[in-house]
Amino acid sequence: MTPWFDTDKVFIGGRWQPPSGGETLPMMDPSTGQEIGRIARGGPDDIDAAVTAARAALDGPWGKLTAAERGRLLARLGALVTENADALAEMEATDVGKPLTQARADVTALARYCEFYAGAADKVMGQTIPFQQGFTVYTLREPIGVTGHIVPWNYPMQIIGRSLGAALAMGNACVLKPAEEACLTALAFADLARQAGFPEGAVNVVPGLGAEAGAALTAHPGIGHISFTGSVATGRLVQAAAAQNVVPVTLELGGKSPQLFFADADLDAALPFLVNTGLQNAGQTCSASSRILVERPRFEEIADRMAAAYRAKVAAPAMADRDLGPLISARQKEIVEGYLDLAGQGQRIAEGQIAPDAPEGGHYVAPVLLAGVAPEDRLAQEEIFGPVQVLIPFDDEDHAASIANGTPYGLVASVWSADGGRQMRLAKRLRAGQVFLNNYGAAGGVELPFGGTGLSGHGREKGFEALYGFSSLKTVAAHHG
Ligand code: NDP
Repeated sequence: MTPWFDTDKVFIGGRWQPPSGGETLPMMDPSTGQEIGRIARGGPDDIDAAVTAARAALDGPWGKLTAAERGRLLARLGALVTENADALAEMEATDVGKPLTQARADVTALARYCEFYAGAADKVMGQTIPFQQGFTVYTLREPIGVTGHIVPWNYPMQIIGRSLGAALAMGNACVLKPAEEACLTALAFADLARQAGFPEGAVNVVPGLGAEAGAALTAHPGIGHISFTGSVATGRLVQAAAAQNVVPVTLELGGKSPQLFFADADLDAALPFLVNTGLQNAGQTCSASSRILVERPRFEEIADRMAAAYRAKVAAPAMADRDLGPLISARQKEIVEGYLDLAGQGQRIAEGQIAPDAPEGGHYVAPVLLAGVAPEDRLAQEEIFGPVQVLIPFDDEDHAASIANGTPYGLVASVWSADGGRQMRLAKRLRAGQVFLNNYGAAGGVELPFGGTGLSGHGREKGFEALYGFSSLKTVAAHHG
């Protein structure tokens, strides 16, 4: 895996350049624990230069493009993503430690975000508002200005696609701080944007540490909006920093998302969703389904079927392309193992395997299915962010809803049932930004607005809705007598 660009540079104002401090950070392969290259350690000066370049782009060629022209650039970028699919998938698999097939799906999603927002760019319209005699009133949707984007390591391409795709479609100029653990495809995205012909400064990428480059970005007075995906703890810091400059933030902070399986549901249809949505990307997914709530009459049957599926799951190096890869880092492995230590022996009802030839230094954790955990237990309340799911029985619809809504999170939920009335009742009742009926995740659905309530965050990305979030609404009232 040799990227076609220098990995140890920042991308500012359309040019690759060394970070201002001249320092680099190691790029680690989670599958082996080995260093595989260096990335730039961007800092406050680089962020400042990136914000200045973005502002110049808005005041210059980028700001003068029509919405249709921005759409065409995004379409070209999407085509370049597809042309470079093999290289991007290999980079993401190596850098994040995700199986190659999952990385390929992420490339497809990135291309789809570019396509979707390419088509949407010139379809965002204002309104005319009936008002008093002698007035004509209308609204304009305008770019906010320079937008800051802080992206985590679990799905770099998908999150870059949903966040920068929408921001660029609306005419903002972007400064992206990818996660230090996985920023290869963010750098690739910058270079593909350059190749697609985005004017200098429209897209800027500054890798570095969260506490340095990330904090500098969120505190910068030139930023008009911040989009953040990551932990609750860092989300709070980001929101506090944004408050100083009184700018809006979109926070996507993960969850403890439940699937509610009722006794009348089709288990054969549900089973792959019940299991795989918890184990995809080794459970390091904000919308992972980490709680499986089952109506009591079918609890044993489902526990048995899920346990059998778990025993067949194998964690292996990303390029071996098995069911799941390693966790991102030794630290993440420690966090997940810390949670697993809370489970008693009788609660671990099934475990998967680690491939015997998986390298010693890789951060592998075999998937674990838990049962006998009370809904208020930490294992059923906190985001573990690893290949761990908890099975919980319920007695009826009310009981299911109260368990499902009984965490501080509210990102995604699903209902498996043949009863249409129950589906509709629960769709309203469940506390979540997305509710799925007889499915989970809708295969990612770039068109579908996404975001949380409670500790899962606020604001919506994806779909058309994101375009409103990345724009500023102006009301024009003309008095013409
Ligand atoms: P963080 O929330 O700390 O990291 C997410 C992003 O924020 C990274 O780009 C990080 O940079 C950046 N960042 C860190 N500190 C700051 C700061 N002070 N100001 C601005 N940006 C900052 O998550 P971690 O990687 O530390 O993971 C810890 C836990 O967070 C996981 O166990 C999981 O529970 C949760 N998480 C949730 C995600 C989700 O999709 N909802 C994604 C990732 C993690 P850098 O990493 O380079 O320091």
